[in-house]
Amino acid sequence: MTSNIKKIAVLTSGGDSPGMNVAIRSVVRTCAYHNVECVGVYRGYQGLMEGDFKQMDARSVRGIINKGGTILKSARSNEFRTKEGRIKAHQQLRDAEIGGLVVIGGDGSFTGALIFNQEFGFPVMGIPGTIDNDIFGTSHTLGFDTALNTVIDAIDKIRDTASSHNRLFFIEVMGRDVGHIALNAGIAGGAEEILIPEEDLGLERLVESLNRSRKSGKSSSIVIVAEGDKIGKNIFELKDYVDENMEGYDVRVSVLGHMQRGGSPSCFDRVLASRMGVKAVESMLNGQTNYMVGLMDGKMELTPLDNAIKGKTKINLELLRVSDIMST
Ligand code: ATP
Repeated sequence: MTSNIKKIAVLTSGGDSPGMNVAIRSVVRTCAYHNVECVGVYRGYQGLMEGDFKQMDARSVRGIINKGGTILKSARSNEFRTKEGRIKAHQQLRDAEIGGLVVIGGDGSFTGALIFNQEFGFPVMGIPGTIDNDIFGTSHTLGFDTALNTVIDAIDKIRDTASSHNRLFFIEVMGRDVGHIALNAGIAGGAEEILIPEEDLGLERLVESLNRSRKSGKSSSIVIVAEGDKIGKNIFELKDYVDENMEGYDVRVSVLGHMQRGGSPSCFDRVLASRMGVKAVESMLNGQTNYMVGLMDGKMELTPLDNAIKGKTKINLELLRVSDIMST
């Protein structure tokens, strides 16, 4: 290890996601393994500015591998968006003799980390923790897989009632700007249609497609709608439109909401979070800074934070095609 960092801080910021606790555990234990001190920062950047720190050792993170949420709590902080706020944060880190900061969060949190590094030259490293899977430089963000499992569990249950009553269900899932959750959970949950922000299906085609499904012998249907779908109507307006333009279906709406963020992390997320924590700390101890760790082609890789923030993830066109074929 080439850097002279002797103490590393870790925080969780922005929206929480399952797997954050596992990443904290991994950062803390990797520090312990390399005889580097580790400090947990409560409430993200807000706690950083207030010096809300706790010394952590390998035993401080026992019993959290299966817990959703984040033991360090997460927060959104407007003060950290100001120069004065960041000066306070820097002072707190200096006073505590901390030499590097691991930020577990989404692209907003990484933007804050990058600005902080540019202003003070302070070493930072990002771990992508968000259920939306909308971060460039990793095939999977922490929590995405768990959220998918939560969503398909809900779809399966809703399907039971849908098929008992010849119902058409619109199920809204998270994803304001990206449709990764909708597309993957839609395929895995056997949805008839999937509406995502990246693709404008159009209302008429939606009704056409639902009519086709019915003619082909289906008595109930599930349509998965990402929060930010392109049709431009909210899910209740969609229901009204279909009610008016399709006969014979009892149309219902289910908004899954925040349950998608909770729950015990899946095996995939636990392994991913453990790998990411090790990579983040060891990269920092090797003198690398301003990167985000990510999973690419099965390997742990580093992406400059700047690219992770600016790069856009793309929807998988092959999955779109698979979903079309499956709804035949
Ligand atoms: P999610 O994707 O789940 O919303 P996120 O990390 O993108 O997570 P944000 O609320 O966008 O969540 O950002 C988290 C925090 O990062 C903000 O509350 C703020 O403190 C900090 N932050 C975001 N953008 C900036 C910025 N431009 N300058 C300084 N700090 C920022």
